[in-house]
Amino acid sequence: MNTVVEPFQAKKKVSIYEPDQAGLIYPEIPEFKDHASHRQYLKERLVAACRAFAIEGFDYGFAGHLTVRDPEHPHLYWTNPMAVHFNQVKVSNLILADHEGKVVEGKHAINRAGFVLHAAVHEMHPDIIAMCHAHTVYGTAFSSLGKKLDPITQDTAAFFEDHVVIGEESGKVAVEVTAGHKVASAFKGVKAAIHQNHGLLTASRHSIDAAAFWFIALERCCKQQLAIEASGSKPILLKPEVARYSREHVGSEYIGWLHFQPIWGFLQENQPDMFD
Ligand SMILES: [Zn+2]
Repeated sequence: MNTVVEPFQAKKKVSIYEPDQAGLIYPEIPEFKDHASHRQYLKERLVAACRAFAIEGFDYGFAGHLTVRDPEHPHLYWTNPMAVHFNQVKVSNLILADHEGKVVEGKHAINRAGFVLHAAVHEMHPDIIAMCHAHTVYGTAFSSLGKKLDPITQDTAAFFEDHVVIGEESGKVAVEVTAGHKVASAFKGVKAAIHQNHGLLTASRHSIDAAAFWFIALERCCKQQLAIEASGSKPILLKPEVARYSREHVGSEYIGWLHFQPIWGFLQENQPDMFD
């Protein structure tokens, strides 16, 4: 299924975080005059997402992949190269791959086995334009419990009724395409998934920025819930209507994008080799 969609339709939404502040500095998604400038922008953002994952300590050998659809050819994805540390990903070593995991541009190989899940989700859900996956300490540990996050804080509310636990193919290294399809069919209408006995996945219909930030946030939520459970104390849960209300205000794609902008600004200034 190579459904061609018009990606990146989701523009910034007006929110409580974007009051009328004309003339003041505020992050904005630029307009693009052509595919080339749009592509360059997305590649830089993808590299920044990888560098952010390095800062967060999300590397585990060659595991983990981040993807964003090409603006001109949405059935193709830009992703990080095989066996390159997240901290050494740069614009020039990104690779462009198709649904089958074939590299169509770039010098490096792809983690084809790991890409099976990614490609299947992208192929089955044309609206998903970016995804992140890594084998993180807390997310992977939490995934072994086979349960969703509880709404224990305002931050966790961002994922309330907006993540799933996928039990299919749990703990089994995904090397076959059918395995990818089972996981992909469970990954619909939500921004995040906890793949049991494996790790975390996030998806965005908006930007790689949002997918990356929600991944960082999800790992943090897993860490917090594990810490509370280890303490033996019983947390007070948010009421469902409160968690839902908070999610509407703090859990949108735009808010995820906005949260990534300080990270982007920091990396842009401190890691200029990203643009090599
Ligand atoms: Zn994995």
